[in-house]
Amino acid sequence: MPFVVVFMPPHIPPLNIATLYSDFHTPITETDCGQMCAPHNPNGTPFCCDICHAVPAVYFQEWEYLQGRTDLWHPWRGDKCQAKPEEIQKLQDETPPSMILLACLGAARCQREYRALSCRQFPFYPYITDDFRFIGLAYEWAFEEQCWVISNLGEVSAAYRRAFIHTFDELFSRWPQEMEAYALRSEEARAWFAARRRRIPLLHRNGGYYLLSPGSERLARIPAEKLPRFGMYRAAAG
Ligand code: SF4
Ligand code: SF4
Repeated sequence: MPFVVVFMPPHIPPLNIATLYSDFHTPITETDCGQMCAPHNPNGTPFCCDICHAVPAVYFQEWEYLQGRTDLWHPWRGDKCQAKPEEIQKLQDETPPSMILLACLGAARCQREYRALSCRQFPFYPYITDDFRFIGLAYEWAFEEQCWVISNLGEVSAAYRRAFIHTFDELFSRWPQEMEAYALRSEEARAWFAARRRRIPLLHRNGGYYLLSPGSERLARIPAEKLPRFGMYRAAAG
């Protein structure tokens, strides 16, 4: 009888989604940032809530929790925004096995308590150093031109920063493999910024603002008002 290799899905410890959400409910800025970016989107929707700009990836455990409580979400089908079949396939292929792509009813019908973790963390991801330390928040660089928060990092509240760090400390303690996934994301960030000879803006877990050199990961402290702005937000700041 030939040997057969049987692949078992990795054991994923359960998360307490209700606690995760209630601990990470703090608005990102005092100002409603959606009102700051939406006027710049031709369809008047905040960019991160516009399915043509961002498709939320949600942990299956969140999806199970959400399905029984709200009609806010449905599986993303890619049937809007004239997405090409190969683009849809690429996004599906890039989605980690522990996650599902969802679409919501839209910003006008948002239910804040049922926002996914990906909504709450946007535009940030946990930055992991090359020697595997979670040192703070870095932003999704693809949204530099659209997201008002990225051009106004000094407006991010201390409470939000604390909640973000607490959430990912908890998540990484339960799911170490997620920290590895974000370590890869951070590596991509270093490559992207290095190719442009730029440093990575970072909201450190110590409360400070820094620019991180992508090659050496040396940190240089910087006043928030000196951080870069982009696109229309730079023009508006003068
Ligand atoms: S996080 Fe950025 S893209 Fe999303 S609503 Fe706020 S400013 Fe707009
Ligand atoms: S659930 Fe709310 S915050 Fe999340 S994408 Fe939809 S409208 Fe935006």
